[in-house]
Amino acid sequence: MISPFTEEQQRFLRLLELPVPGRPAAGEGASSQPALPQAAAAVPSPRQESAPAVSAPPPTPRKPAPPPMVPDAPVRDAAAQGQREIVIAGLAWADLAAMVSVCQACPLGATRQHAVFGAGNPQGRWLFVGEAPGAEEDRRGEAFVGRAGQLLDAMLKAMGLERGRDVYIANVLKCRPPNNRDPLGPEVQECLPYLHRQIALLRPQIIVALGRFATQGLLQVDTPLSKLRGTVQHYGDIPVVITYHPAYLLRNPIDKRRVWEDLKKARQVFQEAGGALPEAR
Ligand code: URA
Repeated sequence: MISPFTEEQQRFLRLLELPVPGRPAAGEGASSQPALPQAAAAVPSPRQESAPAVSAPPPTPRKPAPPPMVPDAPVRDAAAQGQREIVIAGLAWADLAAMVSVCQACPLGATRQHAVFGAGNPQGRWLFVGEAPGAEEDRRGEAFVGRAGQLLDAMLKAMGLERGRDVYIANVLKCRPPNNRDPLGPEVQECLPYLHRQIALLRPQIIVALGRFATQGLLQVDTPLSKLRGTVQHYGDIPVVITYHPAYLLRNPIDKRRVWEDLKKARQVFQEAGGALPEAR
């Protein structure tokens, strides 16, 4: 079978001891923990035209196999988790996408059809963050393409934005929770390093957090959404505007007016930070 990944990406997946589709799994029976590259490569932004490839580190000695994974429990110890986060924090955009596409860090990797990395324009100045892929997103491997996605597109249009031009859309979880149940804490903690790296590479001018899981995951708080809506929070130095998730809005259309207030606030924050905007429709 021909692998969908470039040679460079395949090499990187093997380095992380992740399965390379189209090839036998590297190191059968070996640890599933990612090996830490000796030196993280200089990481380009997706805004840069051609990202330099990640350089291959010298071979790392294999670790013994980890104990079997316990569902809904943290899947690795703190040191290994820290190591994994360092690896992810050093990845270029294409390598990050490749790692997400074969991720088995939590039990959702076993039940998904496709991991969903994101959608839209990585050069866009706006980042919208949702919760997790739904059934349609899982089937197609693209973020916000179901009913909630259609509503999100309508919200963007009302703001004068287009997903393929101005906006990148990502989720806290890259894999669909079965039956669209809420994300579990350990799943969020396993997946968040991917979102952190996406944000570091995208360097958006503003983030719009859609719903509770996006807000609490990004800001690492457990404050209820009702207390955070209407405020401007920050992720590092990036302003974060908080609103309801479009799926909530489908069930509670009465709150559309509140969402419109939040989106107008987001436009205002963006403009105050020097961003140029077309007229809202
Ligand atoms: N809901 C989300 O939060 N994300 C999607 O991609 C789709 C629905």
